Amino acid sequence: MMGVFHDLESYGHEQISFFHDKESGLKAIIGVHSTVLGPSLGGCRMWKYTDEQAALRDVLRLSRGMTYKAAVAGLNLGGGKAVVMADARTEKTPAMLKAFGKAVEAMGGRYITAEDVGMSVSDIDTIRGYTKYAVGGSNEGGSGDPSVMTAFGVFQGMKAALKVTGLGESLEGARVAIQGVGNVGYHLASYLSAAGAKLVITDIYPNQIEKVVQEFGAEVVAPDQIYGVDCDIFAPCALGAVLNARTIPQLKCKIVAGSANNQLEADSDGFDLFSRGVVYAPDYAINSGGLINVAAELDGYNHERVMAKVSQVYNTIVNILERSKKEHIPPHQAADAMAEQRLTEAKKLSAEPVPALAR
Ligand code: NAD
Repeated sequence: MMGVFHDLESYGHEQISFFHDKESGLKAIIGVHSTVLGPSLGGCRMWKYTDEQAALRDVLRLSRGMTYKAAVAGLNLGGGKAVVMADARTEKTPAMLKAFGKAVEAMGGRYITAEDVGMSVSDIDTIRGYTKYAVGGSNEGGSGDPSVMTAFGVFQGMKAALKVTGLGESLEGARVAIQGVGNVGYHLASYLSAAGAKLVITDIYPNQIEKVVQEFGAEVVAPDQIYGVDCDIFAPCALGAVLNARTIPQLKCKIVAGSANNQLEADSDGFDLFSRGVVYAPDYAINSGGLINVAAELDGYNHERVMAKVSQVYNTIVNILERSKKEHIPPHQAADAMAEQRLTEAKKLSAEPVPALAR
């Protein structure tokens, strides 16, 4: 494939591996962006990509994102991700999952896989039959559904953002607009409601809305009206790229803090929020609860330890927002700088030459 090394260089990757299995039709790419802090960990996405370039771009982008997420979360893990070029509804077979499991095993532990779009917990169970390097299965010691922990982390991050913004950290009486009340949004609504927040919600599925309204009480708005809701916090918990030139001018919130990945459509949107005085809790820092949860399997899963670690999202968001204020840079840049600082320090430590083998 033309230009692969150019891509690796511009994204800063260590390794890209292509796997093919003729019998099952597996076409997979595993991207290891960095192992500076530890083995790379990230989910496997099964998606019907339009072409190989699109699949390669996705794995490069996603695996780099995992490096930053793990670094800021204080985990001793690197960034990796896998993509399988197939339609998860029509083309996924046990043979394909077996071939993928063998591919992961062949990476020798440099890459640890988990669930992502198009993959389920039961798929991870199948994959685990062929590799030690898979987490998030239903086995004993498996970490299970990560969305509760993701929501708990977002809830902690919201308190931190309120505190730094000078609004006090209590959510009692705060108005929070949630876009998408699926797995994470539902649990977030539960935490917020228990803390006394007033909820405004939207979703494209009526069932999801009904459940939240019945259990927690919430005002409901149409999907396109959520941006203009007068509130303290806007919580994107559905899709990426929702903070853009069309939506930002509509915002009436003081803070944006939600679980969705890649919320900024472009870097410039982070600057736009900053110049408008809207405090943005960077997505990969506030939504790291799920990663912390799944990574905990590697040290023997312990619920109390995971809760304590996810609570640290509070400090992470405080540190990012304080740095943003102090250096007059948008929070997304402050988060990147913190991740890069941790990587640079770790690289310095590992620069010591490996002692020569005794002969
Ligand atoms: P989900 O699919 O369970 O929930 C998403 C919800 O958003 C669904 O109810 C869907 O109907 C709704 N939705 C979709 N389009 C919408 C629109 N245009 N307007 C309003 N609602 C819309 O997914 P999830 O697991 O809750 O994850 C939510 C987001 O958080 C995703 O971006 C995901 O990548 C991110 N995230 C999730 C986790 C996790 O632990 N599940 C961890 C980190 C990041």
